[in-house]
Amino acid sequence: QAKMQGRSKVHFFDAAADEQVRTHHNRRTEVREALLADQLRLFYQPKVNLRDGRVVGMEALLRWQHPARGLLAPLEFLPAIEHTDLIADIGEWVLRRALAQVEQWCAAGREWAVSVNIAARHFQRPDFVRQLRAILDEFPGVPPRLLQLEILESSALHDVAHVRAIMQECQAFGIRFALDDFGTGYSSMSYLKRLPADVLKIDQGFVRNMLEDRDDLHLVSAVIGLARAFNRGVIAEGVETVAHGELLIRLGCDLAQGYGIARPMPPDDVPAWADGFVAAPEWISASLQEPLAAPWSET
Ligand code: C2E
Ligand code: MG
Ligand code: MG
Ligand code: MG
Repeated sequence: QAKMQGRSKVHFFDAAADEQVRTHHNRRTEVREALLADQLRLFYQPKVNLRDGRVVGMEALLRWQHPARGLLAPLEFLPAIEHTDLIADIGEWVLRRALAQVEQWCAAGREWAVSVNIAARHFQRPDFVRQLRAILDEFPGVPPRLLQLEILESSALHDVAHVRAIMQECQAFGIRFALDDFGTGYSSMSYLKRLPADVLKIDQGFVRNMLEDRDDLHLVSAVIGLARAFNRGVIAEGVETVAHGELLIRLGCDLAQGYGIARPMPPDDVPAWADGFVAAPEWISASLQEPLAAPWSET
């Protein structure tokens, strides 16, 4: 009986896996075609200093302008390719496009840093550093310090020493690194000690719920404390309301990104957005208040 069940289960999983392999295969072909047909786009989401409303940079976020299905978010097409070499081809395209954009903004007197998300598979290719160097050389108008690479903690899971070495090589020519979705990985603490990341990006899930959920508040506060202790920068993502920003300032995190500041937008919309952006009065008054004591000390 048990054997029968086991066997039928195996059969069921095989069918499901087979189905997934086929959809992923089709999806990969489609994404490759999208790249060749110039259907990929980069949107930009601003990062700001909440205290004074200064725009500090932009995160480049990939979109697929699908001829039939409209604008698709990365979750709809990246999972199918992130464990294949196609993710590196796309990553190269993203780097070039983002650097071209920064060059254009710089030429217009807007010195905004750009953050690019790099998949583990791309990052860990043996020629990653050489290729990145070559791409940077194509954009002599862009100082490397204006490029920040966002990697997930989980990217480093298998070979921390290797990842550390790549990061150091890139940092040697001026590029900076952020650990994205920080706090969601399995061992954030030990990574932090070993990886020379310049910035921790507090995961948006914690930020979004920190006003209602004390555990999330504690996590946010702890990451800010960690960043300070390890002398790294810190930025919060998922800032959806003015109240989120207010609390972050009082907890000691001045940099933020989120729908409450701006949604990701096409590059042509960015300058006008930046000209119109001002810090909320609540943020300015939060900047004048005493920093909050560690929130876990309240009863
Ligand atoms: P991520 O790097 O953590 O980017 C943040 C995601 O949260 C973006 O979703 C952004 O639009 C969304 N977001 C920003 N602020 C808020 C907010 O206040 N509330 C909510 N609910 N969401 C917010 P998006 O653009 O769909 O990207 C999802 C993920 O796809 C990214 O997460 C990143 O891991 C990946 N990704 C995006 N672009 C690229 C790329 O060019 N290359 C690679 N390898 N991955 C990319
Ligand atoms: Mg990111
Ligand atoms: Mg993130
Ligand atoms: Mg994410």
